[in-house]
Amino acid sequence: MRPTGKLHIGHLVGALDNWRTLQEKYDCFYMAADWHAFMSEYEEPGVIAAYIEDNVADWIACGIDSDKCTMFVQSQVPQHAELHLVLSNLVSLARLERCPTYKEQLKELKGRNLATFGFLGYPVLQAADILLYKGQVVPVGTDQLPHIEITREIARRFNSLYGGILAEPEGKLTETSRLLGTDGRKMSKSYDNAINLSDDPETIKKRVTGMFTDPQRKRRTDVGRPEVCNVHAYFGAFAPDRADTAAEECRTASRGCTDCKAEMAECLADFLSPIRTRREEVLSSGKVREILEAGREKASSVASDTMNQVMKATGLR
Ligand code: SF4
Repeated sequence: MRPTGKLHIGHLVGALDNWRTLQEKYDCFYMAADWHAFMSEYEEPGVIAAYIEDNVADWIACGIDSDKCTMFVQSQVPQHAELHLVLSNLVSLARLERCPTYKEQLKELKGRNLATFGFLGYPVLQAADILLYKGQVVPVGTDQLPHIEITREIARRFNSLYGGILAEPEGKLTETSRLLGTDGRKMSKSYDNAINLSDDPETIKKRVTGMFTDPQRKRRTDVGRPEVCNVHAYFGAFAPDRADTAAEECRTASRGCTDCKAEMAECLADFLSPIRTRREEVLSSGKVREILEAGREKASSVASDTMNQVMKATGLR
């Protein structure tokens, strides 16, 4: 996860819930990808370090458990950069330029000059992130499958040139729900439409009150369509026991949007309250640093084994 801002409820339902499940079944490595963050934030990188601690506190508060997985910071394991350098020779510029997410990201991350060598090579660094740990399974959304494909191609190329050292990973398509932002667009800090995991009840209420609803429901007496309403999607994620009643009352116009949003804001504040408390405890205990240091040791040990094998196989050492 790139530490470029505070984590929001989209990160919770889109990633962290899934990470919590996966840590029970796999030997998981979860990484604060600060070098990936640097690729887009290089003009103002000062925020990255602060967000690492903040984000990892949120991971822990949401149930990511250092006894069950490894949490670490990418730049503290320099083998990521070493392997990236080796692998960058095994993929063509044309292949990277064809990567669909490259063009999308250029459009999405406006206001930054991303026509750089580093940003074009983003998928190669991702390949190094995966291949260093001989990752077999990488949880992804469909939009990230092209990155797994590039990783597999690079691993095959490496293995055909130097011998079968690198494991080709499989993308594990994960069933995660996607929550839209309060204005109905993709939830993102840059659109200012996110509800953060650390927001207090007052802020949550303000955010939910401003949410877009069913655009056809103009008057209180109009019947609504919960299936197209973003507020209702939030019920599904954070108060599923109330979702059916809310939908029924919306369809029959027996509930108005103002009351519906007030109820949603309360449910969301209740849902996030234990996460916020836990996050404060974690931050004040200094635990994040301890966990990241233990993670660095474990990740470094695996990464240096792989890098030694890579250097031997290529004949560089
Ligand atoms: Fe959406 Fe609730 Fe309004 Fe229905 S009543 S349109 S679910 S906010």
